[in-house]
Amino acid sequence: FVMCVADIALIGLAVMGQNLILNMNDHGFVVCAYNRTVSKVHDFLRNEAKSTKVIGAESLEDMVSKLKSPRRVILLVKAGQAVDDFIDKLVPLLQPGDIIIDGGNSEYRDTTRRCQSLKAKGLLFVGSGVSGGEEGARHGPSLMPGGHKEAWPHIKDIFQSIAAKVGTGESCCDWVGDEGAGHFVKMVHNGIEYGDMQCYFCSELDSFLIEITANILKYRDTDGTHLLPKIRDSAGQKGTGKWTAISALEYGIPVTLIGEAVFARCLSSLKDERVLASKSLKGPQGAKFTGDKDQFLEDIRKALYASKIISYAQGFMLLRQAAKEFGWSLNYGAIALMWRGGCIIRSVFLGKIKEAFDRDSELQNLLLDGFFTNAVQDCQASWRRVVSTGVELGIPMPSFTTALSFYDGYRHAMLPANLLQAQRDYFGAHTYELLSNPGHFIHTNWTGHG
Ligand code: NAP
Repeated sequence: FVMCVADIALIGLAVMGQNLILNMNDHGFVVCAYNRTVSKVHDFLRNEAKSTKVIGAESLEDMVSKLKSPRRVILLVKAGQAVDDFIDKLVPLLQPGDIIIDGGNSEYRDTTRRCQSLKAKGLLFVGSGVSGGEEGARHGPSLMPGGHKEAWPHIKDIFQSIAAKVGTGESCCDWVGDEGAGHFVKMVHNGIEYGDMQCYFCSELDSFLIEITANILKYRDTDGTHLLPKIRDSAGQKGTGKWTAISALEYGIPVTLIGEAVFARCLSSLKDERVLASKSLKGPQGAKFTGDKDQFLEDIRKALYASKIISYAQGFMLLRQAAKEFGWSLNYGAIALMWRGGCIIRSVFLGKIKEAFDRDSELQNLLLDGFFTNAVQDCQASWRRVVSTGVELGIPMPSFTTALSFYDGYRHAMLPANLLQAQRDYFGAHTYELLSNPGHFIHTNWTGHG
């Protein structure tokens, strides 16, 4: 006979799992820890989890037997096959109504597939984005749960108590939506993180990334010189930014800033080629900045702010489209609040986004909210000065320029796509509509007369 004492089990004792367990323990929950390599359970109980209420399990059977009902099991293992393998092993041990939660960085389609297959087996499945890295997991991450909503009342208390808090104690965790919605929102979050990182020079946006950037810029090596210029300029990526860009292409939403940020990392990683090219490809000759540096710094600050607004506007456009594609009803204000604290993109700015969706939950585009319309308007002249100066001096500014192109495209009622349609009709008889008669497609024999 084993006492069912644990509130929840967590499988996967790497960085994220260990810290999340300690976080849950701090909030009064009894956690049962398990790991494929069981020796790590013993190590964890002896060291990090010493003198906590955390208990360990020797096997999955042992773990399940220690759980209160409905059983709640969080997986924090490597995304992909490991998640499916554990699910397969858990299914025969669990009972209808028990809950499996995947807190890893899973692809949202995998989460949707797992929701469907577990529903057929009577189990509840939640795919939750977890953001904030090791520090977040330990002291308050941003949590983005989605999947079977019936599971939410059973995990809400745990999730909302361990998540980051902002303002007057609001939790950076709320129910996101059906199926893979939680992981989709996490994916877009990571994409935005790519965009933010590509944008940053310096600013007072009161964001975590800006803060760490300032510290990095100031950091000196042991020899007293700055460390940053010595780091190889070839950016790595794990893939979630790429997934966001792929989704954007798939659903036809111009998430140009994130796409550009992903490509900028790709370009950076062609280090050897760039070293070669730098010897023969010349930029503008003799170009030199002659303006007022302080004024220009202020211009850069505003260009950054405007570009960041564009990036978030685009991210939310993608969320809107995904909601439409999959029939998810997403609460955009709650999503902004989830990103407000705990995670890498946390900033006060996200509070403004939440307020915009509070004013109008059906807001078509962030740029159309009065606050953001005015903010961009206020930055516009600076933004254009920075972009044109950069272009003249031959300095690559992928995110500022792509953001400005988007803004100029989005604010034009008429774009030259009429010419594209005519060309397509000319060479491929793809037909076109007249402005005066939308919905009616016609073809012209362009070489017929004239
Ligand atoms: P990780 O390195 O991604 O994964 C290590 C864990 O997965 C270990 O417990 C390992 O067990 C288990 N594992 C790996 N392959 C397995 C397999 N084939 N079968 C069973 N178990 C397997 O750990 P992590 O960095 O803590 O991340 C966990 C999850 O959170 C990942 O999905 C990650 O993408 C996501 N995440 C990470 C961060 C972060 O900052 N690190 C932030 C947000 C989200 P063994 O000990 O037996 O090898």
